[in-house]
Amino acid sequence: MTVAYDIVVIGGGNAALCAAITAAETGARVLILETAPKPYRGGNSRHTRNFRCMHHGPLGPLVESYTEDEYLADLMKVTGGKTDEHLARLAIRTSEECLPWMEEHGVRFQPSLSGTLSLARTNAFFRGGGKSLVNAYYRTAEGLGVDVLYEAAVTHLELEGDRVTRVDYTHEGAAKSLSPKSVVVASGGFQADTDWLARAWGPAAKNFLIRGTPYNRGVVLADLLDQGIAQVGDPTQCHAVAIDGRAPKFDGGIVTRLDCVPFSIVVNKDAQRFYDEGEDVWPKRYAIWGRLVAAQPDQVGYVIIDAKSLNLFMPSVFPPIKADTLAELAGKMGLPGDALEQTVAAFNEACGDQTAFHPTELDGVATSGLTPPKTNWARPITEPPFYGYSLRTGVTFTYLGLKVDENAQCSIGDRLVSNLWAAGETMAGSILGQGYLAGFGMTIGTVFGRIAGKEAAAHAN
Ligand SMILES: Cc1cc2nc3c(=O)[nH]c(=O)nc-3n(C[C@H](O)[C@H](O)[C@H](O)COP(=O)(O)OP(=O)(O)OC[C@H]3O[C@@H](n4cnc5c(N)ncnc54)[C@H](O)[C@@H]3O)c2cc1C
Repeated sequence: MTVAYDIVVIGGGNAALCAAITAAETGARVLILETAPKPYRGGNSRHTRNFRCMHHGPLGPLVESYTEDEYLADLMKVTGGKTDEHLARLAIRTSEECLPWMEEHGVRFQPSLSGTLSLARTNAFFRGGGKSLVNAYYRTAEGLGVDVLYEAAVTHLELEGDRVTRVDYTHEGAAKSLSPKSVVVASGGFQADTDWLARAWGPAAKNFLIRGTPYNRGVVLADLLDQGIAQVGDPTQCHAVAIDGRAPKFDGGIVTRLDCVPFSIVVNKDAQRFYDEGEDVWPKRYAIWGRLVAAQPDQVGYVIIDAKSLNLFMPSVFPPIKADTLAELAGKMGLPGDALEQTVAAFNEACGDQTAFHPTELDGVATSGLTPPKTNWARPITEPPFYGYSLRTGVTFTYLGLKVDENAQCSIGDRLVSNLWAAGETMAGSILGQGYLAGFGMTIGTVFGRIAGKEAAAHAN
């Protein structure tokens, strides 16, 4: 490679692209090193649908207003207060200017999905989804003269004192290196390295499915942490949801998510229930089911519903297993038939008056005398045909990452690394200690990607 790049951006997802575009607009010469082949470029970002955004009044597709304090309160609720308030407020406040910036750089929005009224106020949906957002950013970046090298896997950053002096990567089977003035790391979490997940979670992690890209293996993250770059977060914290057990090991994406739990009973492989399926409305509970299923034998669960619940939820891409009797359903799903019949009978007996049943509100239609209880939407499973889905834990992204300051800059010991910045999933643990708020991943990547690009360019120019 003959060009002397000012800035190397590692990764090819949302955070990397926001950094590369921002830096290139200052006149800096920017190279993106993306480990994926071109058709798979864009990491987890290509699976996304929306971005959570603060706004004082109607903004783009967003209605009414969503204040900084309300956004922060929503975040604090889901993270149980384990949030860096300073960086969170910075991300929230800056999100408002991001939406018009995104539009200026090619992203198009669409009205929120119908029926999700609260999201129409808080989350801006990308027209064409994350894939189209990523494609728009690549077009914009290339128009600004950013070079992109696909199948370029970064293996090592050489640190001398407080500087990165060399970026090592492989391309077309050959080991290469570059010495840019500034480096931005935007190469995601480590969730696709299932050995690393197993070190953190124990062998059960081998049974987890990874909802997004197989390329986020944490290679650069591990390399930097091994060299003493400041780290943040707990390796067992991640965003994980329950997904259809038939999803592929990687890259199943949003269509494998199962939203029928509130209208079902969920059993383990012994056909025993293990948690209140009706604890709260699904948007507030879907993210705990990844962990609940992870704690069951063989890390599997099974959702059982009957005919009257089939049309109450958004289906996954896979059709349900269908049978005329519970015994037949158990046989098709590999569950012990007698045990399933007993579990369903005990549940049915514990169901009471259902006249208040309301599928989209906490209706208080509960079981009595059953452990664990079902505290809402408890209706007997009696109406054939019966349907079942298998469940597995689907990991979205991990939180252990690079600790950054408000300039997205990395540090070592008590000093800043003078030419190293990080953005997106790889530093999300700097803000999120646990839990997750829908749409905040893209907020973090967009806000800190732009900051990292600006700072990296200021250092280089
Ligand atoms: C199914 C699914 C749906 C989601 N939906 C939403 C949503 O609607 N809204 C939301 O806010 N968030 C959502 N998320 C989370 C969101 O995807 C992430 O928070 C966000 O995309 C992270 O962006 P990023 O740029 O940090 O990482 P990524 O987009 O994952 O990009 C990381 C990039 O780094 C590259 N890379 C990795 N290692 C190397 C290496 N060694 N060398 C070079 N390149 C490397 C990868 O190939 C990839 O291109 C979803 C995630 C999934 C899996």
